[in-house]
Amino acid sequence: MRLSKSFIPTLKEVPSEAVIPSHILMIRAGLVRQLSAGIYSWLPLGYKVLRKVMDIIREEMNAIGGQEFHFPGLNPKEIWEQTGRVEAFGDILFQIKNREYVLAPTHEEIVAYHAKGAIVSYKDMPQIWYQIQTKFRNEPRPRSGVIRGRQFIMKDAYTLDRDAAGLDVGYALHDKAYRAIFDRCGLKYFVVGASSGAMGGSKSEEFMVKSEAGEDTVAYCEKCQYAANSEVAQSVTETAKHHEESKAVYEISTPNVKSIDELCDFLKIHEHETAKSRVYMHDEKPVLVLMLGNDEVNETKLTSVLGGNVRPCHPDELKDISGADAGSIGPIGFKHKIIADTLLKDANNMFSGANKNDYHIGGLDLSRDVPNIEYFDLRTAENGEKCIRCDSTLEVFKAIELGHIFKLGTKYSEALGVLYLDEHGKEQPVVMGSYGIGVERILACFIEQNYDEKGLTWKEPLAPFDIHLIGLNMKNALVSETAERLYISLIAEGYEVLFDDRLDGSAGVKFNDADLLGMPIQVIVGEKNLKEGKAELKNRRTGEKTIVELEKLIDKLQQPV
Ligand code: ATP
Ligand code: MG
Repeated sequence: MRLSKSFIPTLKEVPSEAVIPSHILMIRAGLVRQLSAGIYSWLPLGYKVLRKVMDIIREEMNAIGGQEFHFPGLNPKEIWEQTGRVEAFGDILFQIKNREYVLAPTHEEIVAYHAKGAIVSYKDMPQIWYQIQTKFRNEPRPRSGVIRGRQFIMKDAYTLDRDAAGLDVGYALHDKAYRAIFDRCGLKYFVVGASSGAMGGSKSEEFMVKSEAGEDTVAYCEKCQYAANSEVAQSVTETAKHHEESKAVYEISTPNVKSIDELCDFLKIHEHETAKSRVYMHDEKPVLVLMLGNDEVNETKLTSVLGGNVRPCHPDELKDISGADAGSIGPIGFKHKIIADTLLKDANNMFSGANKNDYHIGGLDLSRDVPNIEYFDLRTAENGEKCIRCDSTLEVFKAIELGHIFKLGTKYSEALGVLYLDEHGKEQPVVMGSYGIGVERILACFIEQNYDEKGLTWKEPLAPFDIHLIGLNMKNALVSETAERLYISLIAEGYEVLFDDRLDGSAGVKFNDADLLGMPIQVIVGEKNLKEGKAELKNRRTGEKTIVELEKLIDKLQQPV
């Protein structure tokens, strides 16, 4: 492709709305332009890469027996009402005013609609249906460019099976296809097991990429690949000490001491000698939660331990429940259920609140003084703690979700009446799985992992072009003739070539554009080298430059780097 005839609007300046590297570079390199918050147009260079991503996805989905569909984005609202998801999606769902339509944020409903009556017997399954299509979600905070858009392209796939065993097979096939897709795209990713929550399924896994731009926090062990969302991640860390001799409980006057830090300062003790108290309401009954030192309660873990409805106690409820205000609450004399974090197991000689304002206690022995206390993992794993699986060091960082595989079960088939006849002639609901990949996120995450201070650094197979051919002074007849000839022969050799054939434009502008656009190899044709029948090759990633005789240029390109 000739740069002189292309629309690749590169920018020198960093666009003000962009913060993260992929967003900045996608705009500066002319891959995308914003139309409105969270809505982007793909320009030709960007779309060329996006198509390569989609081709890889298609090949891998077809390889597991996927059949490609194209479902409409405009959906009758009625179908979405039948599954309760107009309400479940709430404000995220775009609805068409004055018409009973919604813009589809995903397509479980439409798949179920078409499966109904068409999948009649167990013999009609398994099925793998997929599409690469636009989704609409009224995200409250679109950000990071195409990473969180209000309109975005998703590869969504759905499996239809007769039973859980069939679903296991379809799920495993998608796991395999997803790994193949992300591997081929050259991404460094990891897989996190997650509870599928609102989707109503039983098992799910998320494919993630480490990035400051991520909105999920995960704990990851490089050594054994243990990975978990920080809401559920476990770790191994220092527990409270158990002293051989247990002191008796004693009261200490601690005027105006409220926080653990203040208590430690006041008594000159270490935070690991303290038990912090937090009061929650569980189905409107109080529960005291004890944590070691400054550890905060992980409310996701607490909710899954207790079940039912869990909320922090309001400050004005505390006095009635415990006899003291926040900052002075403790387990002794607390008349309701008490649970504690596992790090406190059998701790003694501890300090905590006295359930009396401005007093704390020392000599607390949890197993002696708190009958019926139960221990659970209630804290959030932190960076640098040990992995629960292999004891090496856990890293906690932000990550972006690239894809998600879900075992849906029968939620949608039951809501929409997608039934089949088993071999005994009995009606059964179809068992579904759903599997999504954010197509644009693949591209953005690739850029997050492949750039330098000059711009993009593409590599195969996503690179929009293999070679950026630069004719330095195209007004010079020898330069332009040679560059034109090279352009034709490189294409004939099967290379995709972006040819900077612009008549004007200084060498500096051309070099900067080539570095910004980031094709793996630059071939530079200039007067000086041409005098000796040579041109320059530059490896964009390493910056390595070689002067090569023109006749040997193609041979040189074919040598492995
Ligand atoms: P997130 O937690 O990031 O909102 P999600 O759980 O809502 O993601 P799914 O419904 O599982 O996402 O959608 C499948 C895939 O679609 C995600 O893994 C992600 O890659 C992509 N995706 C979801 N929402 C967006 C969005 N607003 N913009 C771009 N891609 C998205
Ligand atoms: Mg979402």
